[in-house]
Amino acid sequence: MSWYLERGHVIEHDDRDHLRNHRYSKYGHNTGPDSPGNPRGLRWGGWVCSDSSAPIEGAYNNNAMALGGGTRVFGAQAWRFHPLDFQMASTYGIPHESSLADWPIGYEHLAPYYEIIEWELGVCGSAPASNLPARRAYPMESMAITRRGQLLTQAAEKLGWSHQRVPLMITRFPGSGRGACIECQHCVGFCCPTEAKGGTQNTVLPIAQATGNARFGLRRGRCGSSRMIRGR
Ligand SMILES: Cc1cc2nc3c(=O)[nH]c(=O)nc-3n(C[C@H](O)[C@H](O)[C@H](O)COP(=O)(O)OP(=O)(O)OC[C@H]3O[C@@H](n4cnc5c(N)ncnc54)[C@H](O)[C@@H]3O)c2cc1C
Ligand code: SF4
Repeated sequence: MSWYLERGHVIEHDDRDHLRNHRYSKYGHNTGPDSPGNPRGLRWGGWVCSDSSAPIEGAYNNNAMALGGGTRVFGAQAWRFHPLDFQMASTYGIPHESSLADWPIGYEHLAPYYEIIEWELGVCGSAPASNLPARRAYPMESMAITRRGQLLTQAAEKLGWSHQRVPLMITRFPGSGRGACIECQHCVGFCCPTEAKGGTQNTVLPIAQATGNARFGLRRGRCGSSRMIRGR
C-alpha cells in the first residue's frame, strides 16, 4: 500500500525574477497551488464562509505548495524560540477575548530538538546574545558580516544592547549534493541557485528517499514536470 504525502510540485527553475517570484504571485505563480480548484474560504464577521480567495490573490497567504514547502523559498533564519515565548499569557497577561495561553512545555523541552536540527540540517551562526540561554555552538561559523551588520553591531554596543548574528540554515561548504553559499542575497522568496540554503527538499527528504520507504512518483503539473513523495 502507498499513499501521497506531498501534493506540491518540484520547483526546478532558478529564475530569480523579482516580479515573478513567490512574493508577487500575481505576476507568475511559481510555488503553487494551482489557481483552478484551490480556493480559500474567507469569513467576514459571522461563521459562514462569505468570500473566497484564489492562490494568486493577496488574501490567500500562500506558503508554497511545493516539494520542500515553505523552506523552498524561505529566508533560512533559524531562530530558536525565546524561553519567555512559551509563557506569553502569564508574562504579559491575556488580552480581552483572546485565547492566548502558555505552552504546556517550556524551552528546556525543545532545546535538545533544536540542537538536533541545527546539527543535522546545518546552521551557521555565532555565540548566543548575552540574554539568551547558553547552547552548543552551531556546526558552522556565521557568514561574513556585512557593512550594514557592522553598523548595527556598533549601534547596539553603543546603546548597551545585547546582540548576536542571525543564525542561518545555510551551508558554507559544499557537500551532500549541495553547493556553498555564493551570497547572491536572494534567499527570501526564491529558490537557492546552489542548494546552500537548507530546506526539507535537500536535507531530510533525500534521506527518506534513500531508505527505500519513500519514493518520488512522476506527475505532470502546471509548473512543468513534478514529482510527489509516496510512502509505503
Ligand atoms: C517567503 C518566506 C520566507 C520565510 N522565511 C522564514 C525564515 O527566515 N525563517 C523561518 O523559520 N521561517 C520562515 N518562513 C516560514 C517557514 O517557511 C514556514 O513556517 C515553514 O515552512 C512551515 O512548515 P510546515 O511544515 O508547517 O508547512 P509547509 O512548509 O507549508 O509545508 C506543508 C507541505 O504540505 C503540502 N501540502 C499541503 N496540502 C497538502 C495536501 N492536501 N496533501 C499533501 N500535501 C499537502 C505542501 O505542498 C507543503 O509542501 C518563511 C516563509 C516564506 C513563505
Ligand atoms: S546562494 Fe546563499 S544567499 Fe543565495 S539563495 Fe543560496 S543561501 Fe541564499
